[in-house]
Amino acid sequence: MGKNRLDVVSNHQFIIRDIVVGGKLNVEGFFMNYTASYHPIDNDRQKVSFIRPIPQFEWVVGTGTYLLEENNAFLEREKMLKAKMQTTIANLVLISLVIMCLIMAMMFIISIKLRSLLDRYENHLLLNNKQIKEQKRVFETLYQKSADGIWLLKEGLFIDCNEAIMKMFKTEHKKRLINVTLVDLSPEFQPDGQSSFEKSQWMNSIASKEGVHKFEWYAKACDGSLLWISVVMTTIIMNKGQIQHCSVRDITVRKALEEENKKQKKLLMHQVEHDILTGLPNRNLLQDRLTQAMKKASRDGRVLGVMFVDIDKFKNINDSLGHDAGDILLKVIAKRMQNSIRETDTVARLSGDEFIVLLDGCKDVNDIFTAIKKLVASFQEPFVIGNESFKITMSIGVSVYPNDGELASKLLKNADIAMYKAKAQGRNRYIFFDQAMNQETNEHLEIEKSLHKALENKEFVVYYQPQVNLKSGKIVGFEALLRWNHPTKGLTSPAYFIHIAEESELIIEIGNWVIREVMNQFKIWHDKGLYPGKVAINIAGKQLESNHLISFMLQSLKESGCKAEWIELEIVERFIMKDTSKSIALLKRFRELGLDISIDDFGTGHSSLAYLKQLPITKLKIDQSFVQNLENSSEDRAIARTIIELGRGLGLVVLAEGVESKAQKEFIYSSGCELIQGYVFSKPVDANSVEEMLRNQSHML
Ligand code: C2E
Ligand code: MG
Ligand code: MG
Repeated sequence: MGKNRLDVVSNHQFIIRDIVVGGKLNVEGFFMNYTASYHPIDNDRQKVSFIRPIPQFEWVVGTGTYLLEENNAFLEREKMLKAKMQTTIANLVLISLVIMCLIMAMMFIISIKLRSLLDRYENHLLLNNKQIKEQKRVFETLYQKSADGIWLLKEGLFIDCNEAIMKMFKTEHKKRLINVTLVDLSPEFQPDGQSSFEKSQWMNSIASKEGVHKFEWYAKACDGSLLWISVVMTTIIMNKGQIQHCSVRDITVRKALEEENKKQKKLLMHQVEHDILTGLPNRNLLQDRLTQAMKKASRDGRVLGVMFVDIDKFKNINDSLGHDAGDILLKVIAKRMQNSIRETDTVARLSGDEFIVLLDGCKDVNDIFTAIKKLVASFQEPFVIGNESFKITMSIGVSVYPNDGELASKLLKNADIAMYKAKAQGRNRYIFFDQAMNQETNEHLEIEKSLHKALENKEFVVYYQPQVNLKSGKIVGFEALLRWNHPTKGLTSPAYFIHIAEESELIIEIGNWVIREVMNQFKIWHDKGLYPGKVAINIAGKQLESNHLISFMLQSLKESGCKAEWIELEIVERFIMKDTSKSIALLKRFRELGLDISIDDFGTGHSSLAYLKQLPITKLKIDQSFVQNLENSSEDRAIARTIIELGRGLGLVVLAEGVESKAQKEFIYSSGCELIQGYVFSKPVDANSVEEMLRNQSHML
């Protein structure tokens, strides 16, 4: 066809070049439509060629055909193919669409399903969230409003707290309680003396080790006030580390109560072991100390001294000064005693004016002597109460361990016995216990025992001693004096047994027996027309104190038929003075019954003249101790005369008892006292002798 046809343009187309370039680009070959200008007949015939390169030869070959009518079938076929292809494509598109629709429908259904699932899940989550929120709110409220304080502690610093803590620590600013340590909110030291810092570290470490630790703490609130708190510290491990949850309670009030209780208990313990008035150890503590001291002395081979100290005539001081002054005096006495002994020794108060000095660990008895001397010396200086000054003496009984007993009770008892001896020997002295005293005590117990039987066995008898009017020389009455017809000792005087009966309740029974016996006897004598006058019946202190004496007296008067005006009650001065106001009331009742009352042993019992004036008494009996020395003692004469004068002044009858001699009788009579009782006239005699006496009374003086 020619050479260099590449650039030949036919019908505006570079056919060859397009073939060459197309061949290079389409390795698989391609169709090309063009206008073939070189057609021998028809210059511009349309041609279609299939062109394919053959790379190994660097050729591009093509085969083509002119688009003639005979090619219509081919074109038809192409058209048909195209149409078929289009149908196929349309079908494919349709099928795709259907499939897509189906997929979309499925997706729609799935999405609806998923939606509902999601909705449900969301609702669930919302609900959970709500519950969590609600729980959180409840927890928050509980946390904030909890009555107990809640404090969270991290690495020793508080990181949060609730309102209760703020209230407890008296602040409205939470930040004052955060980022601080427990020590910042505490005094420097805890009440037990430990430093707050050290103790808080210790508490922390226990809580960490054991998980939970409860302790009490003395804290300082923000306003500086101090408070007691109880803390339950719980260690909680969290992912951010370790937190200590502290549940805190204000226990200040409880602590104060506890403290008060402790004080009360201590006070009570002190009271249990100490005498309230003087603060000295009492019998309980003494017993304890004595037992300890005995053990120690026995270990160390030493001796112990137990001094039983009784203040002489303390009762008189008490009665004359009043009980308040008496109490003050006892306190001063206690102080002096305490100051006179060593610190290791003990002074205890047993009761009233009785003290015990326990001399601990003495080498020998000489040490005890030295202690006694020191104690006595401490009483040399007079005691001053108000404007009055007194010289006070004491009677001391001493027992020594181990000689006088190996039991505390025995030592005390023996010291007591020795003290009684010291009193009996005239007071103001000390006496060491010895076995003879023990015997005396045993005898005392023996008498007490047989006294019980004496009433049952009717061993008592009443003797009568006449009371005489010196002017007329006639018997005006009798004093009833008890005798005990002892099974082995024979007739014994009251001196042998009456003090023992008076110490116990026995005197009431015995006294009642005397009252009945005397009333019956007097009724008989009066009925016999013997006119024995009045009978004086001795009444002991315990009888006066019993509430039944008046009713017993009334009943006995009634039953015996004895008249009240025949009876005179003889009461020893000291019994009346024991409780004067009570005595006045009681004696008044007796007087109302028509009974006379005489004060026996007058002059020995420190009567207060002020009271004497008020006492509803009828007679004073001058004690025989003044009468017996009338001849030798001008003092006793003066006393006797004074009593007679006093009695007269008060409008009382005065009788001198124990008149033994003519001289005594004459002195008494010349001093203005007409009534006497004594051996000078007659000793006490039995009832038969009284009858005889009364019958012969005109011949007896
Ligand atoms: P008292 O009441 O002072 O009785 C007077 C005591 O002096 C009696 O001793 C009597 O015997 C004694 N006495 C009388 N005249 C003389 C005398 O001239 N010289 C001497 N030395 N003594 C004389 P008694 O009978 O031994 O009684 C002693 C005390 O016993 C009584 O002293 C009285 O306190 C008490 N007593 C006697 N009988 C009873 C009683 O029935 N009940 C109570 N509670 N005590 C009684
Ligand atoms: Mg008497
Ligand atoms: Mg008397």
